[in-house]
Amino acid sequence: MRPRIYLSPPHMGNTEQAFVNDAFATNWIAPLGPNVDGFEADLAKQTGVKHVAALSSGTAAIHLALILLDVQPGDYVICQSLTFSASANPIRYLGATPVFVDSEPETWNMCPLSLEKAIAACTSGKITSISQLPVPSSQLPTPSSRLPKAILPVHLYGMPAKMDEILAVAAKYNIPVVEDAAEALGSHIKGKQCGSFGDFGILSFNGNKIITTSGGGALLSNNEAMIQKARFLATQARDPAPHYQHSEIGYNYRMSNVLAGIGRGQMQVLSQRIAQRRANYDFYMDLLKDVPGISFLPEPDGFFSNRWLSSILVDPAQTGGITREAIRLAMEKENIESRPIWKPMHQQPVFASFPFFSTGVSDKLFQQGLCLPSGSSLTPTDRERIAKVLRRVLET
Ligand SMILES: *Cc1c(COP(=O)(O)O)cnc(C)c1O
Repeated sequence: MRPRIYLSPPHMGNTEQAFVNDAFATNWIAPLGPNVDGFEADLAKQTGVKHVAALSSGTAAIHLALILLDVQPGDYVICQSLTFSASANPIRYLGATPVFVDSEPETWNMCPLSLEKAIAACTSGKITSISQLPVPSSQLPTPSSRLPKAILPVHLYGMPAKMDEILAVAAKYNIPVVEDAAEALGSHIKGKQCGSFGDFGILSFNGNKIITTSGGGALLSNNEAMIQKARFLATQARDPAPHYQHSEIGYNYRMSNVLAGIGRGQMQVLSQRIAQRRANYDFYMDLLKDVPGISFLPEPDGFFSNRWLSSILVDPAQTGGITREAIRLAMEKENIESRPIWKPMHQQPVFASFPFFSTGVSDKLFQQGLCLPSGSSLTPTDRERIAKVLRRVLET
């Protein structure tokens, strides 16, 4: 069997190990130190956001953002349905109610019109009365506010969401925005970086992301007090005292100085990684653009995607019956990994009973969409193997 081609494997540059060695040489083997400071500074420079806390994961960053926004049991948090579960799980850690909003077709991200419908339903009290909730609404904690406590849009696969429209709705109702940019480091709209639009931005450096620290994340905000508070909560909420003293519940969410060293090295190659991922998209586009029934997600005017993952939509009505799944299985047979577009949260057993405002878009994307191998280390030989399978299955 030929070596496996992965969907999105880690891809180290030349300097990561030197930063890690430096952590060893100076004995900064701790969740603080020069690499953490340096990585935070690199991220602030890249995103244009003033304050950054490097954390143990993107999930931890979302959890802290929601805590800082005072999300309480029973509160509503509006969340994009088409995402990875880590966007929505922290809402449930806090006992709040996720209200899922569907996507629009131009970016595959949160539909601003459906967002406004969801807010209207929350404020008018229509949500607590609906029977879909997992427990009878009479048993739910009374929300501290009917106005949602936060709006959580996602830049899926690196494509920026329609942030101008989403921010306009958020401003109209004065609801804070937590921007899930886990997949979108380096993406932007007219030069404004993903992660810099919301009251909070979050990033992930999990092993499959465009750059990685093996595991890690970051919380971004221009509000210095909020990031200071995040650092406090992320280091067990220790009050200033010679003994261990705590007035609040804390978390162990800081990034290790060893791992931040990997991050500093990876930041030196971020622009190359973006160029390599975008070249993958162009490769698939050139290969498949004339195949009936295969379509892509183009960038809207002024939008720049890091093309973290390249994906196609497969319409069996136009491919002569060939489905997304047929392509996936044919690739798997050749030891090539691909994956259906993320199954939306409103279809997940664990979230199915929560409110959902549909456009029909994410259901179709899940049915027809396939993420193709998108690693920045994809070689010409890998591409030839992939092209061979795709050409054979699609008979081009
Ligand atoms: C990866 C990811 C996360 C979670 O990040 P971790 O660092 O793995 O906790 C959150 N949201 C989205 C959209 C992601 O892709």
